[in-house]
Amino acid sequence: MKISNADFKRYSKQIILKKIGIQGQKKIASAKVLVIGAGGLGCPLILYLAYSGVGTLGIVDNDKIDISNLNRQILFTSNDIGKYKVDQSKKIVKKINKKINVKIFKEKLNKKNIKKIFQKFDIICDCSDNFNTRYIINDHCLKFKKILISAAISKFDGQIFNFNFKKKGPCFRCFMPEEPENENNCETDGIMSTLAGIAGTLQANEVIKTIISKKQLCTKEILIFNSLYSNFRKVKLTRNPNCTDQCLKR
Ligand SMILES: [Zn+2]
Repeated sequence: MKISNADFKRYSKQIILKKIGIQGQKKIASAKVLVIGAGGLGCPLILYLAYSGVGTLGIVDNDKIDISNLNRQILFTSNDIGKYKVDQSKKIVKKINKKINVKIFKEKLNKKNIKKIFQKFDIICDCSDNFNTRYIINDHCLKFKKILISAAISKFDGQIFNFNFKKKGPCFRCFMPEEPENENNCETDGIMSTLAGIAGTLQANEVIKTIISKKQLCTKEILIFNSLYSNFRKVKLTRNPNCTDQCLKR
């Protein structure tokens, strides 16, 4: 893929970084990244992927914008209430750079449509808000050896995972074998606006790092942070010997 003169200027501040360079920018332009959920995490993630020059962006979401989204879902404004999130997201991405190939999926991800939606993407970003969807995404990425970059947030706490299923690392089920009885979600628990921004941005950071380099990725650890105390820590994540056959027999 060639970098045009306009793109050379647009991305010059990152191209001059030795660890990115022209080659890195070409990789970013060739990347095909799917974002599941255009919510608190998905909005900053989509914005940074678009601004960084990711060439193909997929967005899955079947929700409409609600006024209660507007403390953290920074792709949307008061004028957008009642519109589909994917339509508004696409509009903004095209405004950032009209050359970005945006594919939107106005549907809820399930076991039936996942294969069709995932097949054209290499990196999958889980920004979903429920465990059922997280397990479906994990199992499918495991089966088809996709790179899965996940983030989860609740109240003031965030977690970032980067699973590379081409290698024999852990999966999401190794960390969370079963759905917790009382599922946390921002509807009931609340969420700090900046927490969503930090977590979505860290997720974008992990995506860009994965595209340009195979080093220094959080593939065997979870990055955990608390936005109230500004604490960051990494916790080692290993394969759970009691995980599913699908995870262990590879
Ligand atoms: Zn596992």
